[in-house]
Amino acid sequence: MTQVLRILIIDDNPGDRALVIRELRREFPQFQPQEIREASGFASAVAAGEFDLVITDYQLGWSTGLEVLHTIKQQYPNCPVIMFTNTGSEEIAVEAMKSGLDDYVLKLPNRYIRIPAAVRVALERLQIKQRATLLEIRLQGLLNQLKLGIFRTYPDGNCIECNPAFLELLGLDSLSQASAMNLLNIHKYYSILQELPPPQQQEQEIQLQRADGRFIWVGLSIALNILEGQQVIDGLIEDITSRKQAEIEIQQLNQTLEERVRKRTAELEVANRDLAQKNQELAEVNQDLEAFAYSISHDLREPLRAIQAFGSILLENQDRQSNLENQKNYLQRIIASTQQADKLVQDLLEYSRLSRTEMPLQAINLSLLMIQILRQLELEITQQQARVQVEEPLAEVTGNPTILIQVVTNLLTNAIKFVAPGVQPQLRIWTEKRNKLVRFWVQDNGIGIKETHQKRIFNVFERLHSYEVYPGSGIGLAIVRKGVERMGGEVGVESQPGQGSRFWIDLPIVIDVNP
Ligand code: ADP
Repeated sequence: MTQVLRILIIDDNPGDRALVIRELRREFPQFQPQEIREASGFASAVAAGEFDLVITDYQLGWSTGLEVLHTIKQQYPNCPVIMFTNTGSEEIAVEAMKSGLDDYVLKLPNRYIRIPAAVRVALERLQIKQRATLLEIRLQGLLNQLKLGIFRTYPDGNCIECNPAFLELLGLDSLSQASAMNLLNIHKYYSILQELPPPQQQEQEIQLQRADGRFIWVGLSIALNILEGQQVIDGLIEDITSRKQAEIEIQQLNQTLEERVRKRTAELEVANRDLAQKNQELAEVNQDLEAFAYSISHDLREPLRAIQAFGSILLENQDRQSNLENQKNYLQRIIASTQQADKLVQDLLEYSRLSRTEMPLQAINLSLLMIQILRQLELEITQQQARVQVEEPLAEVTGNPTILIQVVTNLLTNAIKFVAPGVQPQLRIWTEKRNKLVRFWVQDNGIGIKETHQKRIFNVFERLHSYEVYPGSGIGLAIVRKGVERMGGEVGVESQPGQGSRFWIDLPIVIDVNP
């Protein structure tokens, strides 16, 4: 407010005007009166608007105090107006107050003194009102800037007021649209709030659909209040979509992370188990290799020792007139030993080749295969006067023909070889279907094998007899086992010493691809 206090004093009576001026001067030294006597003066003063307050009489020759009041309030709604009059009833006073009159002072000697007080109160009230207006403007400005949606509704969802952020957040155009769409489902929360003890408030995070159909997450705080005897719901909403999405993403990430860790751990466990198994296998292979190397050197030394021994004898007897027949005999034995060594090396090569060569499998007609094998063994069979009985028809199996020929040949050669002296070898060959396998049998009337030896004879260099009694390399059955295993089968023997042996091999049956 300016330092100078400018007051319009509207009164036809110069005495009364002077009275007012005198009373006010006492209280307000900076007071500047502008006296209005007639309509034109009033009109130009109103037009100029250079006054802070108006004091008017009720009864004017050219107007009434009420009209003055209306004119002033219409153009300057905040300008205080005080009526100073000796006329007018209480009704007029009431009506004037309703129209915005700030105070009413009667023209009575003991009341003049009230004029400065009325002016002071009116000015103070104006000041408070102006400050309140300023505050409200600032508050409104702040609320408008806030990203926080503020609203007040009736329990049925009808919106009383809201800030722009509320509308923007929910994609609404107006308060009426907010009421019509009731996107927050206010009545639902009203029932919840009603059940709560005071203060009836609630906060929660909810997902809702905006007016444009987009889903968002909001933090909603609501309270049930009473306003002028009416229940209302006051609330705040805040857009928390980004935070919520981040939370959900973190949650999902954690879940997938856990899942990945679990999967990776499982994979590692499997890998560890595989590694342990491989190590175990490697250790076994190493053991086998050691045993194998030992056997090779052991078995190879036998013919070499013989060569060495007979060679030395020959050398020592060079000068002596040794028997020519003897010398021939020694040389023959040297040759036999080299042959034995050569056979050993050859069989070993055959055995190692078995592990390395490709082995395509196919359907094999065993009957046809037997014809081929028996033809190859004809000389041996005739020499030993062996009798071979094949129980036709033999089944079909899945295998590799080259390997199978070798496997069966080895079994038959053994069956012919391992008979007691003077016994005519008798062989019986047949097949037996067993579920998804075919069992191929070779039975002989030979010397038989003790049960304790039946497993180890399938290992390399495992022989139960000396070379002199039953010549051989000790690799034949090892080739049988490896060959059968590589064709997906198994091998075994049923035997008792002196009772003959029954060797068997299991091979997969032929699976008809196009039934
Ligand atoms: P090789 O026949 O060269 O000695 P194998 O590996 O074929 O070697 O056989 C290993 C051993 O198993 C033989 O030395 C023999 O003692 C025993 N054996 C193999 N077949 C028979 C059989 N049909 N009857 C009795 N013993 C056998």
